[in-house]
Amino acid sequence: MNQRQIFQALIAQTSDEPISLEVDHAEGSFIYDRDGRKYLDLISGIGVSIVGHRHPHVIKAIRNQIDMYMHTMVYGEHIQTPQLKLATILSETLPDKLNNFYFTNSGTEAVEGAIKLARRYTGRTKIISMKNAYHGSTTGAAALMSESHFTGKYRPLLPDVAHLTFNALEELHVIDTNTAAVFIEIIQAEAGIYCIDPTFATALANRCKQTGTLLVIDEIQSGLGRSGSWWAFEHYNIVPDILLSAKGLGGGLPLGVFISNKEIMSCIASKPILGHLTTFGGNPVSCAAATATIEVIRDENLIEAVAEKSKLLERINSSGKVVALRKSGIWAAIELENFEMVKKVIADLREAGILSDWFLFNSKSLRIAPPLNISTEELENTVEILTKVLY
Ligand code: PMP
Repeated sequence: MNQRQIFQALIAQTSDEPISLEVDHAEGSFIYDRDGRKYLDLISGIGVSIVGHRHPHVIKAIRNQIDMYMHTMVYGEHIQTPQLKLATILSETLPDKLNNFYFTNSGTEAVEGAIKLARRYTGRTKIISMKNAYHGSTTGAAALMSESHFTGKYRPLLPDVAHLTFNALEELHVIDTNTAAVFIEIIQAEAGIYCIDPTFATALANRCKQTGTLLVIDEIQSGLGRSGSWWAFEHYNIVPDILLSAKGLGGGLPLGVFISNKEIMSCIASKPILGHLTTFGGNPVSCAAATATIEVIRDENLIEAVAEKSKLLERINSSGKVVALRKSGIWAAIELENFEMVKKVIADLREAGILSDWFLFNSKSLRIAPPLNISTEELENTVEILTKVLY
C-alpha cells in the first residue's frame, strides 16, 4: 500500500474529504510535500505555527530540554524548570490579576478545566457561551457550541448551558446570579473573524461583575500577537477572570493553559484535592518550546510588525468575487458568495502553492492566518496571487 492508502485504511478519518497533503518536511512559512512541491502555509496549521515551522530558537529549546528530561511525573507534582520559566514569561505579557497558570495538553482541556474551576469557585452550575463560538470538541467544551449540526448526535452534553447572540446587548440579562461563567472569544474565530463590539465588551464585563459571574476569555486563536497585541482583550479595556490559551502557545508542540488569579485557582486544590488532573499537561518539552516561542515573538518584535502586515491584507477589498473582508491584525476572513466559490479558490491557491481553508461555522469565507513572522515579501507575493485568484 502507498502512504495515501495506509492513511485511508489505518488512520481514523474525520471527514470524507481530508486535505490529504503528503507532508515531507516544513520550514519557516512553508510546508513541502513528498513530490518536492512547496506550499506557503497561509493558515499556520489552524493557528498553531505562529512563529512559522521549526523556528531555530524553538528547535534549540526542545533539543536542550530533551537532553535534560521529558516526562517525569503527572502535572502538578514535580518542580520542573520549563513550567516555571513559561509561567514567568507569560506573566510578563499579562495584567497582574492573571498570575496563576494551570497547563494542559490542549485547548479543549483548558476549556474543561475552566468550566470546572468556575463551577467550583462560584458554587453555581449555569454556563453561558455565545452562538457560533467554538471552544473545543470534548463533551464539556462541545456543550458550549450552539451549532446542533455538529453536536446534535452526541447529546445530552452538559446541562445548564445557554447560548447568547454575540454582541446582543439585549440578551445580557440572561447572565444572572446563578451563572458560574460566561465563555467568550473576543474575536470569534471559527465563525469567520467577528470582533466583539466595544460597547458589548464593557457591558458584558460589568454584567459579570454585578452578578458575581466569572468572565472566561478564550484566546486560543486570537492570543499571542495575532490581533496586534499580546492578547485581544487588551484592545477592549477589559480583563478576564480566566484566560485560555493553546494552539500557537506550544510553538508546534501540544500545550494549553487556563490562567486565573491564585485565589480562584486555589479552590481546585483542596476539599477535595485534585479538582483537575492531567498526565501530560504542562509537558516539559512543550513548555520549553512555548517559552522559546514567546521569546521569538518578543525579541523579533513580531507584534510591532503586525500593523504593517495587516495593511497589506487590505489590498484584498470588497470587489470581484469578494463580498467582505473581516480582519484583525494578521488574521482575516475573505467572504465570497458561496461555498462552491470558496472550494474553487482553495483549489486554485493550492495549485499556485498556497494552503488555505474555510472556517468551521463559515464555509463562505476563506481563512487567512499566516505565521506572524511571514516576511513582507512572502506576504506581498501571497496577496498578489490571492488577488489574481479572486478577481
Ligand atoms: N477554542 C478555540 C477558540 C479554538 O479555535 C479551538 C481549536 N480550534 C479550541 C478552543 C480547542 O482547541 P484544541 O483543538 O487544542 O482542543
